[in-house]
Amino acid sequence: NFLSDNSGQHDATPSGRLSRSAPFVISEALSRALIERQLRVIYQPQVQGHDECLAGFEALLRWHHPVQGEIAPSAFIPVAESTGLISSLGQWVIEEVCRQIRRWRSQGYQVPLVAINVSVLQLNQSLLTQVARVLADYHLEGACLEFEITESRLMQNFDECVHVLSGLRQQGIRISLDDFGTGYSSLDKLALLPLDRLKLDKCFVEALTGASHGYHMIEAVVRMAHALHLAVVAEGVETPRQQQLLGELSCDILQGYLFGAGGDANTVISYLSRDPDD
Ligand code: C2E
Ligand code: CA
Ligand code: CA
Ligand code: CA
Repeated sequence: NFLSDNSGQHDATPSGRLSRSAPFVISEALSRALIERQLRVIYQPQVQGHDECLAGFEALLRWHHPVQGEIAPSAFIPVAESTGLISSLGQWVIEEVCRQIRRWRSQGYQVPLVAINVSVLQLNQSLLTQVARVLADYHLEGACLEFEITESRLMQNFDECVHVLSGLRQQGIRISLDDFGTGYSSLDKLALLPLDRLKLDKCFVEALTGASHGYHMIEAVVRMAHALHLAVVAEGVETPRQQQLLGELSCDILQGYLFGAGGDANTVISYLSRDPDD
């Protein structure tokens, strides 16, 4: 019986006929979201491992759809990547973050560093000119930005990626290898990448207190990273115990719900005025 179908897919019209509501198609809704200002950026704090002083923020994209509500980046970023929309989406995030840093500065707040997630698909020659233009437009130096690049796709187009990452670093932007340990990057190529930081995936931090060899894995990664003159960022730090162990292991930067889940521009200002000894 169609009329008793309460799946939400079918609505009875006043005349009794059935009209099928249009299915929600992420790719279509996403291009509209860009135009209709449904996207925003939140900022999650990163602290120094040794003293808990604020080290910077990671910019995380949020999408509030008027009907569907909050849609997770894990649902729409892959769609943006497969449809090619990631270029304009990524460009919007960079521009939005720079606009916000300029706004904070005009209010008298100096934000140490903002890390932006950048898809490997964005790493092309035009990114270099776009970034240079945005930095100039907002009178910012590249040193206020870091780009986080996910390991998994980097190796597919290695030479071009190295070229673009080097160009970004020449503009003063720091480069962080995100989700380190979850992909399959070969260690010989790792040493050839122009990097400043390794970002340990949160599954390592979870394994830290587990029965597995998490502690020794992180110990080995930190030693390797430091030998390559890379700083290590641990994400997904949720407990004081994890913080303590990561401190023992000389992890340079910590990020996770223990220090804050992140928030809007005003939340950032409250982090800036916070004393870690309080
Ligand atoms: P990611 O870069 O690995 O970001 C970390 C994710 O872990 C974020 O999820 C963050 O909210 C979450 N997280 C932070 N602290 C904790 C914690 O203590 N415990 C746990 N369980 N989770 C924590 P989110 O915001 O849902 O983002 C998911 C992924 O989407 C990101 O993973 C990133 O790969 C991608 N993403 C987010 N924003 C952007 C963007 O602007 N551009 C691109 N290309 N990708 C983005
Ligand atoms: Ca990230
Ligand atoms: Ca990550
Ligand atoms: Ca991740």
